[in-house]
Amino acid sequence: MASKLKIDCEKCSGLCCVALYCMKTDGFPANKEAGIPCKNLMSDFCCTIHSNLVSKNMRGCLAYDCFGAGQKVTQVCYPNGDWKTNPGQANEIFDVFLIVFQLHQMLWYLVEALSLISDEPLKSDIDALISENQQMTNLIPDEILNLDIEKYRLQVNQALKRVSGMISSDSSDGKQIYDYFGTNFKKANLDGRDFSMSLMIAANLEGCSLQGTNFLGADMRDTNIKNTDLSGCVFLTQMQINSAKGNSNTKIPVKLSRPNSWQGL
Ligand code: SF4
Ligand code: SF4
Repeated sequence: MASKLKIDCEKCSGLCCVALYCMKTDGFPANKEAGIPCKNLMSDFCCTIHSNLVSKNMRGCLAYDCFGAGQKVTQVCYPNGDWKTNPGQANEIFDVFLIVFQLHQMLWYLVEALSLISDEPLKSDIDALISENQQMTNLIPDEILNLDIEKYRLQVNQALKRVSGMISSDSSDGKQIYDYFGTNFKKANLDGRDFSMSLMIAANLEGCSLQGTNFLGADMRDTNIKNTDLSGCVFLTQMQINSAKGNSNTKIPVKLSRPNSWQGL
């Protein structure tokens, strides 16, 4: 299951580089509308500046992660053609991609949630949500487009809140967004803290103890995680890791990949 949720850009038709609305200020090459290909996307779906994304400070491109939705939509949902060979279907393909992205993101959290708890009734609720998710992503495109995704998201959010309440020492009620913009936590013991949905932009977590610390949905753009061990954190995603500032001493959970942009100390 974990490999299904990892990006495989070589098996994709560059969906994120076309389907998404992008802003230059968010670290993309230029402002562009959703559905318009990025000017750097080549006809073989590779990026002309791929090897220079770090030096050109393309933070948005470097951070983005589709949880494997790109290759799923390209290979499984539309095996007979992509947005380029079937221009009449392009908008539909992008819409399906955006829905499958959300489903894969929720699946990522559910799979991790299952590994964190032993409570049997909750485990079986999460198992049922995982099965439902897999059934939904295996539907044909027309059916995917008609899914009631918000109803499903509500159920997933409720299950994840219950898990957060069990694993965190100071679980938030999920009603308030906590703002830790630029907060200096350097070397603090944050074991078991619940930072779910918090704004951690440019916060300093260097050298903190983060065993069981919950980062579900936290905004970690430019969070300083240099010289920090995050291997015991929960609900961390590749996108959060990609947008934070680590270095060669940063440790991350085994299921995540080390960003190329983390060089040196
Ligand atoms: S949509 Fe996903 S798999 Fe496709 S190019 Fe973007 S990140 Fe890679
Ligand atoms: S610069 Fe490259 S990775 Fe970024 S959106 Fe454009 S084609 Fe995609």
